This record gives sequence, C-alpha cells and structure tokens, in this order.
Amino acid sequence: MRQESNTINWSDSQTKQAILAAIVSSSDDAIISKDLTGRITSWNSAAENLFEYNEEEILGKNIRLLIPEERQGEEDMIVDQIRKGIRVSHFQTKRIAKSGRQIDISLTISPIKDEQGFIIGASKIARDISEQIAMEQRLNESNLELQKLNIYKDEFIAIAGHELSTPLTTVNACLQLMTQFPERTPDFIQRIERQTTRMKTLLAQLLDVARIQAGKLELDLTETTINELVNDAIETVQQSTQTHTIEFSPLANDVTVQVDSLRLAQALINLLTNAIKYSPGADKVVVSAGCDDDYFIITVQDFGNGISREHQRNIFTRFYRVKGDQAKRVTGLGMGLHITRQIVELHRGSISVESEVGSGSAFVIRIPR
Ligand code: ADP
Repeated sequence: MRQESNTINWSDSQTKQAILAAIVSSSDDAIISKDLTGRITSWNSAAENLFEYNEEEILGKNIRLLIPEERQGEEDMIVDQIRKGIRVSHFQTKRIAKSGRQIDISLTISPIKDEQGFIIGASKIARDISEQIAMEQRLNESNLELQKLNIYKDEFIAIAGHELSTPLTTVNACLQLMTQFPERTPDFIQRIERQTTRMKTLLAQLLDVARIQAGKLELDLTETTINELVNDAIETVQQSTQTHTIEFSPLANDVTVQVDSLRLAQALINLLTNAIKYSPGADKVVVSAGCDDDYFIITVQDFGNGISREHQRNIFTRFYRVKGDQAKRVTGLGMGLHITRQIVELHRGSISVESEVGSGSAFVIRIPR
C-alpha cells in the first residue's frame, strides 16, 4: 500500500479530477452544475435523493424545472450575479422535487470558468434545511405561546392584587365601622363573611392552578349518581343567586358513576357560576344530563353574552379572560375554566363550548362511565 501511494502524483490533473469526482459523488449535499442558459450539465447522487430525478432524466433539462412558479425570478437574479462573476452564498429558498414536494434549501452558487477565464456556467450546492426550518418554526411557535402566557400572567398578577386587596379593604372598613355603629354589627359581619368567602375561593383556585402546574391535582374516586352530582352543584350555586333560576330535569333512570364527586362538582359549580356571571340580562340557566353505554354528558347552557370563535379557542388557557367592558364589570381571574378542563381531563373526559355572541353559551362535559 505504502509503495502504491508513493507512486501517486496528487497534483496530476487526472488524479485531481478523480478526487473531485469522489467528493462530489459522496457528498450529502446536492451538487449540480449548469450552463449559462440554465441547462443542467451534472447531477450527483445526493441531488438524485433530494429532488427525486435520476441523472438520465434530468441532464439537459432546465434548472427552472426545480424552481416553484412564484420563485422563478430568483433564477434571473442568480444568473445576473454569476455573469458578473459573483458567488451567491447560503441563499435560503424553496425548490420542488419530482413528486411536487416543496423542499427548504440553502443554496450556494459559484461561477464556473473555462481555461481562458470566461464564465461558462455555475455550480450549485443545495443543502436540505427542511428539518432546521421546521424546528425554527416550532421554536417560534412555542416562544409566541410563552410570550402570550407571560402577558396573561402579568395581567393576572395585576388583577389578583386588586381582587385580593378589595375584600381586605372592605373587611377593614367594616371592622372600624362596627365600633362606631355597634347596632349594625350583624350587617357588617355578613359583609365580612361575603368578602372572606371571596378571598377563600380565590386562594383555593390559586392553589389548584399551582397543583395543576406541578402535576399534583389528583382524583379521589367515589360512587355517586349523575342526578346527585348535578343537584349538589346546582344547590350550592342556586343559594348564592337571586337573579337566576337553574333548571334541571333529572334523569328518569339515574346512573351510578365512579368519579371524584367533589372535584366534578367544583367543575360544574365553575360552569354554573360563569353562566350566571356572564348572562346579566337573563334569568335562567339550563342544565341537562344524558348518558349512553360509554359516556355521560352534562351540558350547562346560558342565555347571556356568548363568546366569539376567536376567544372560544383560548378561554380554557390559564389566566385568559376575554377583554372588554364585560371583563371590567365581572370579577374573575381566568382560572375557573382552566381548572374545570383539568378536572374533566383527569376523568379522561373532554369539555367543549358552543356559543354565539349575544345568544349565550353551552358548555358540554363528556366523561367515560
Ligand atoms: P373568569 O370567569 O374568572 O374570568 P374563567 O376561566 O372561568 O375565568 O373564564 C375565562 C373567560 O371565559 C372569562 O373571563 C369569560 O370572558 C369567558 N367565559 C367563561 N364562561 C363564559 C360564559 N358562560 N359566557 C360568556 N363568557 C364566558
């Protein structure tokens, strides 16, 4: 072997050509050459893999065959540069394979000169960057998602501060007034109770969101019936509203289910509370229940503000609230639906919403039996 290599003349032009040919054919990048009219004059095996044409069918064809319609102008620009002897480096673009598949590529194009130095064509090195572009896109999307969540979080902190300090201020004021007007003590105590309940609810929601984030929200399954479950939730909410009647026709043949009844009642209470909060002009909320062999379904329908399609997609996201006059009037931190969805999903169920602005919303919970 050593003897053989000693006899090779590496600067000999034939050897040089053989080395170049070996590099071109084993390259992972597509290497193509073309003349100044765009006619393809060489095509390596990576080009075959990338563009799906074999050498016989592509040699002599015009390079424009690989260029999408809307990018044909790029070729004029490239030819213009090449004629001036200018190299085009790492130009990101798209090309089409024989099957019509679009490929993201990075192109480097260099002029080819003859022995007299005249430019006679160009060599193109095309690198498939589809994976890289897809990854960048995914990164951008998750960055956008993060930015959005950050904005919701900032808004949340601002509202949370307000939501927690308002009841505290009221409690403080009531305590001071109680000493000035002792005869009104029962009224002040009632107010204090209302405000502390409000704070307790908020703090409980906050703790639930933290549990969800840590993956620590767990179910405690017990046996209950659908009518019992719905009636309990309705009773709790009905007690605290004077404006709305919650209508429910119990199932004629009630069904026993294995669920976390406290958590599922919490989910229903969230939906019922929202149904009342976001239908100030209405006086009823309708709950219905149904059951088939595989699932039971509970629907909470209101006749209120409704939710536009754009917002329907986001309302289950943590801290998301629909902005506008309604949000200013109605207290809330955008945690209820997020918690509700988690509870339903922990039961391997799903929640969806159908709504029309101005007509009302129906939230549908579907849980496997
Ligand atoms: P909160 O009510 O505390 O703001 P939720 O997570 O329960 O938070 O709801 C998120 C948002 O979805 C609300 O801010 C509201 O804009 C919208 N929404 C929820 N339920 C209804 C409903 N029944 N009708 C109209 N809008 C609703």
